[in-house]
Amino acid sequence: MSTLPRRTLGDTGLQVSQLGLGGFHQVEIGQSLVTQIVDRYLEAGGNYVETARSYGGGVSEIKLGRALQGRRHQVVLASKTGQRDAEGAWREINETLQALGSDHLDLLLYHGINDLETLDRLAGPGGAAESFARAREEGLVRFVGASSHWPLVLIPAMERLELDAVMHWVNYLVTCNYPEIYARVAPAARQRGCGIIGMKPLGDGYLYRSVEPAFTYALAQEVDVLACGFNSLEMLEADIAAVMAWERPSDAALQQILADAPELGDYVCRQCGACHLPEADLPRVFELEGKFDQQMIDGRPTDAPDYALRQRLNNWFDNRQRAIELYKPLCSRVQALLEQNATLPACPYGIDLRYKLRMAHAKLAGSGKFPAGEFHF
Ligand code: SF4
Repeated sequence: MSTLPRRTLGDTGLQVSQLGLGGFHQVEIGQSLVTQIVDRYLEAGGNYVETARSYGGGVSEIKLGRALQGRRHQVVLASKTGQRDAEGAWREINETLQALGSDHLDLLLYHGINDLETLDRLAGPGGAAESFARAREEGLVRFVGASSHWPLVLIPAMERLELDAVMHWVNYLVTCNYPEIYARVAPAARQRGCGIIGMKPLGDGYLYRSVEPAFTYALAQEVDVLACGFNSLEMLEADIAAVMAWERPSDAALQQILADAPELGDYVCRQCGACHLPEADLPRVFELEGKFDQQMIDGRPTDAPDYALRQRLNNWFDNRQRAIELYKPLCSRVQALLEQNATLPACPYGIDLRYKLRMAHAKLAGSGKFPAGEFHF
């Protein structure tokens, strides 16, 4: 029987299955189902189990700890703390170990380092880094990593926190919204020998129609393990099947996935660069729109599941204000383009650039003046 293939987590040497079990959504289901999911995951050759102290206030750790009883040695076990000071981090590390029923973690991550101020606190006097180092010295933790929803912060974090692994999004939607992940963050991680843990390969469920292409795309990126939030046996089976069937796609096949993706359609910018103008960097405008709302609000009618997901996810990462700030140097140039009714290039993905530019500008300039009758928050 074939099992989930493994990759090496950077220079840690840990062998991790390409499909990881992410613990966030285990909070939403009962213990019996969590145990069934863990049973099936291990049976399929899965061995990367990751959670966080904050998931359900420890509930995810408790459920996974129970499900792993007697099998702790079969998995690479990871958790995260969002505590920023040494005292809080030390307390949570010990709470995590108790909840998981383990005397050590293979990987402990700083949870959600999203800005430089947080990084300063973590790395400064009395910061959580002191407890991470102590935990390592005392054998409570083998390796250290960090996750982020503003991935560029991971570059200085790798250096200042001596990280062994980083965790950021890996899916084809996020490629359109955070192109810096593969242009800058992943290369920097590899240069340091850091492992790369991809989160949200199915975009928090937004790519639910596209499980196979989503995994085909995600596993072709620079990544060692994809932590996925399956919380039903059906979802787990679909993910296992997609990962087991994976073969490295050609560049053309990857481009085709981006072209065909129903979630991207003729609205989401693929960052091909073809509409860059001397007057204004339009790909950057659309990238910032992606940071604002993942380019999910397109002002068009859609079906109920899609609408519900967009409503839930469009500001999930709370990066709107930053996108607005970054847009300020571009704002007057885009305004002028729109007022002059300038001719815009054709987009190879069929995106109506004038409409999209009006939408992006309205969001990022904060005017609230969206194309008439077409936009609802
Ligand atoms: S031409 Fe289309 S896909 Fe390419 S950067 Fe512009 S909007 Fe994006």
